[in-house]
This record gives sequence, structure tokens and C-alpha cells, in this order.
Amino acid sequence: TCALPISMKETKIRSIDGTEKDIPVLKEAGQIIRAGGLVVFPTETVYGIGANGLDADACRSIYTAKGRPSDNPLILTVPGKEEAKAAASYVPALAEKLMDIFWPGPLTLVLPRKAVVPDAATGGLDTVALRCPAHAGCRAFLRAAAVPVAGPSANLSGRPSPTTAAEAARDMGGRVDMILDGGACDVGVESTIVEVLEDEVVILRPGAVTEEMLAAVTPRVTVDKTLITGTGVPKAPGMKYRHYAPNAPMQVFVGRTEAVAAAIERETLRLRKGGGRVGYLVSTETADLLQTADAPTFVWGRHGDKKELARNLYTGLLFFDTAPADYILAEGVAAGDIGTAVMNRMKKAAAGAVVDV
Ligand code: AMP
Ligand code: MG
Repeated sequence: TCALPISMKETKIRSIDGTEKDIPVLKEAGQIIRAGGLVVFPTETVYGIGANGLDADACRSIYTAKGRPSDNPLILTVPGKEEAKAAASYVPALAEKLMDIFWPGPLTLVLPRKAVVPDAATGGLDTVALRCPAHAGCRAFLRAAAVPVAGPSANLSGRPSPTTAAEAARDMGGRVDMILDGGACDVGVESTIVEVLEDEVVILRPGAVTEEMLAAVTPRVTVDKTLITGTGVPKAPGMKYRHYAPNAPMQVFVGRTEAVAAAIERETLRLRKGGGRVGYLVSTETADLLQTADAPTFVWGRHGDKKELARNLYTGLLFFDTAPADYILAEGVAAGDIGTAVMNRMKKAAAGAVVDV
């Protein structure tokens, strides 16, 4: 969490629902952004904390609000391809093709930056990360802002990302000028980040746009080695930090429900012998099999339902902000589709403690 001194702001919370009622709210949100302030906004992946991406001071205030290390660059959120091109000094044909196919949507492209993009937005890198979200309320907000909006996830650095306005308010209340409540996020895990080279795409962070989907567009798709080995310096600086961490250490078990339930029972006995309180983050089916009583339990959905786990993962991790648990025993999903992104986040949240059972 954040040890920096921070002056508390009055945070306005405003709902948006895609109707005409949003117009004055979004107008005000756009003014806040252009005046150098901070606005939390919904996207289809997770909630973002937004500032004018062309204003270095405004970008720096995101780092202060999040307690984010200054070498971890921000993502610039734009309403379309033209605005993205205004921030990138070179857009290979392949990048343009990816924008045409996957935008608006959960894909972030890393491209060489133009000089208008300040160091404060790129962590000093000579590249810029660009994303065009699909969420209708977010798109209306971006048009109202009329500048690229630097928008990393709206959590305190290291914590799980928020997927509802209430979760964002928990971390960012008093630190931002406004929170736009656009409902629960549909995807639930952050965007896929790719570096786009002349004829190669490198996945730096897995997300809802999968390796298979990218491979259908271009034959050369690789994955940043550090994502696979867990060692070395990742190309997305943010991937090196402990991340998505819930309030208690977590272990993740992946397998058939009977095997997962048995492993959780065994760990429960062991941890309780040492006096520890356990909490569960499991599927409906596994919850039904668990015999141990009295563990705070967050049921995330049906066994193996990757989309549902993605949607509920961070709310599940944040459940343990208030549920009394010294250890979290969680059920994961198989890799593939969005399961790869989910397990990437769960592995970080569990500091690597993931086992196949
Ligand atoms: P967040 O969406 O909050 O997870 O933060 C943005 C993510 O994008 C972080 O993991 C950053 O390291 C990554 N990122 C932003 N800009 C770049 C860039 N130019 N090159 C590589 N990764 C980037
Ligand atoms: Mg983040």
C-alpha cells in the first residue's frame, strides 16, 4: 500500500448508464481531466484511474494516488485508431490490422511514442502503450475528455484491480476527484498487452485477446519469455512487481473438483493445527464437496467456467479484505482461452503457489 503523503480530495461518485442523463456528468468528468484532475472510469476489463495523458503533472498524480513505482508506465486510453496514431511515431501495418480487428476491445498495443507523450506516461520508455476500450460509458467519457487518458487500473499498487465502482472507491476514495460508476466490468481481468514489431507480435501480458486469436491474424506470435519462466526482466515493467495480492497468503489448486476439494481439506487441517484461519475461493461444485465447516467462502461460479472466474476473480480476492482469514485456499482453472490470463494473475496473487492436483 501507499506510504506517500497524500492530500485528501472530495471524491464525487456519479452513475452513468448510457442514456442522455450522462451528458452533464461526462462533461464535468472531461473538464476535470483537462484541468489536470483524476477520474476513475469503467472499462470492459477493470476500472481505470484516468488523467490527461499529455500532461506530465497529471500523469505523475496517478503515481501518487496509486503509490505506483515510477518506472511502471501507464496505458494511454483512446477512443479510436486516429487518436492512437496521434500518440505513436510509427504504426506498422500489422498494428493497424490488429486495431481494425480487435478495437474497440481488451487489447493494448505497445508502439514507438511520439514526443507529445510525456516521460511521466511511459515511465521514461521510448514506447507508449495504447488501448481503445469497448465499454460504451468509457467511450463517451473519452470523447468528453478530448485528450488521451492515461488509465492504469484504479487500485493501490500491488492490490487486486477493482471491477466495480465500490471496489475502486475503497482504494481511491479521497484520492481522485470523481468516480464514474458504469456497473460491473464484463471481462474482469486487465487487457492483453502486445508489443507490435514489423511482422511479429509479442505478448507481454495475457488477457481476453488470446494467443490463438492473435495467431489467426499473424503467423508470428510469441510470448515474452519471462511470462513463461517467471525469471528475467519482463518487457512490461509492471509484470515484475508483486501484484493483485489479497490480504492473506494464497494457495491455488487446479484439477477435478474431487481432487481440488481433497487438497483443500488437507491444507485446511494442516493450517488449522497451526492455529490459522482459512478462507476459500472456490467453484460451486467444489464448495458442495467441502466438508470443513466455518470457513469464509467466496463462490466464484461453476467449475471450469473460465469467463466467470475471470469476471469474479478480483471481487473474490477483495472478499478477504473483510472476511477473517489468515490463509486463502483457492481453486484455479486450466490454461487456454481466458484461463491463461486468469492463472497469470492468480499465480502472482499467490506468489507462485499454484499446484495441479
Ligand atoms: P495496468 O493496466 O494497471 O496493469 O498498468 C499498465 C501495464 O502496462 C503495466 O503492466 C505496464 O508495465 C504496461 N505498460 C505500459 N506501457 C508500456 C510500455 N511502453 N511497454 C511495455 N509495457 C507497458
Ligand atoms: Mg494494474
